[in-house]
Amino acid sequence: MKAKQIWHAALGEFQLEMTRATFDTWLRDSRLVTYEDGTFVIGVKNGYAKDWLENRLATTIQRTLSRLAGRPATVRFVVWEKPPAEELPPPLNPSSPPSRSNGSTSFPFNPRYMFDTFVVGASNRLAYAAAMACVERPGDCYNPLFLYGGVGLGKTHLLQAIGHACQSNHLHAMYVPAETFTNDLIESIRTYSTESFRETYRTADVLLIDDIHFIAGKEATQEEFFHTFNALHANGSQIVLSSDRSPRAMATLEERLRSRFEWGLMVDIGPPDLETRVAILHRKAQALGEEVPSPVLYLIAERVPTNIRELEGALNRTLMLSSVEHTLPNEELAEAALEYMTPPHSDIDAEQVVSAGAKYYGVSKDELGSKSRTRRISLPRQIAMYLIRQETNSSLSQIGNSLGGRDHSTVLHGCEKIASLSEEDESLRRELLSIREKLYQ
Ligand code: ADP
Ligand code: MG
Repeated sequence: MKAKQIWHAALGEFQLEMTRATFDTWLRDSRLVTYEDGTFVIGVKNGYAKDWLENRLATTIQRTLSRLAGRPATVRFVVWEKPPAEELPPPLNPSSPPSRSNGSTSFPFNPRYMFDTFVVGASNRLAYAAAMACVERPGDCYNPLFLYGGVGLGKTHLLQAIGHACQSNHLHAMYVPAETFTNDLIESIRTYSTESFRETYRTADVLLIDDIHFIAGKEATQEEFFHTFNALHANGSQIVLSSDRSPRAMATLEERLRSRFEWGLMVDIGPPDLETRVAILHRKAQALGEEVPSPVLYLIAERVPTNIRELEGALNRTLMLSSVEHTLPNEELAEAALEYMTPPHSDIDAEQVVSAGAKYYGVSKDELGSKSRTRRISLPRQIAMYLIRQETNSSLSQIGNSLGGRDHSTVLHGCEKIASLSEEDESLRRELLSIREKLYQ
């Protein structure tokens, strides 16, 4: 295999082994820059990614590359100057890397995510209004503002828009994904610099923490965030949080944090209706300077019912196909683009995952569904929950039903536990990978 193929194969494995957040944040946009004599030079998008990969993943990556290359391999990371062609998700804006100061990382605002580019419809009107109110009277009306909703519905977009607007009003606005908050905290503990960590976060006029559900179940982070929250709130600083679920649905969130999250205003963002989806596509096509006929927009909007990121992806792909074929975007191309985006494995069901997990760990399906709490059974059970959630469209309570009638918070707790264990535990990642392989054989 050529070096490039080896790197691609390795990326494929990492994607399966790692949590989606880890992979997307650190590896998705990496490139093989050059290869020489066993050394893979990998370009990453900024110094922060470089540090993170060097400190946490270099050994794992080297091991995988050595295995695939059939010879000892080393890896070196460099900051890759040329931004990749596709647009990157925030907060990792390639043109302006996050800056580190006082041991914490603050992200620049992505100019794509402004109030003007946010299409308002019934599903997000309240969230939009609340976000605007935070800009007009920061710290004064809803504190905290807690925005929650599914993936790709515009939470990050709104948080960034608030940050942007507050910055223009000369306020010190800080946008940080909860995962970064956690990593910074760990780093500050390691380097005995917790004081400056605190200072940085506590000087914000507006603190925007994205994907706060990430801290559920992480005790030290919750403890620190609790104090950060209190300090800011007492100061009258505005706090805005986003989450993929309501505080109530965060099974492993400490009670004192839950109650604070509920102090201000909680607003959920729902899936956009058809008209809103079409409006978003229309706006997006306009921004790209492309003329896309209405029937094509409708076709895409009808077929991508919830996730707005996927909606944009389908449009981008349609436009790409039309430029390759030198024709205007039409319905046929849109069909082809949509087909490409449909995940290939959608036919796996919960039952099959339970069987594969039981077989792999040498326990019976009945045992997985039983009340037993011994580790021999409970860990495979949680792994099954996690895999069903990842590989199928089952809801939490459906997952609970396929494992002996467990309630949704038990399932959520199980999924979160495996997600966080697998961040640290390489052998667990291997096990997950093997079960997946069996599943799709
Ligand atoms: P989330 O953080 O909820 O997962 P994002 O904020 O990242 O979702 O949104 C996903 C994509 O969809 C982004 O590119 C964002 O700009 C776009 N988007 C989401 N909601 C809207 C909206 N109401 N109008 C225009 N674009 C939107
Ligand atoms: Mg987001």
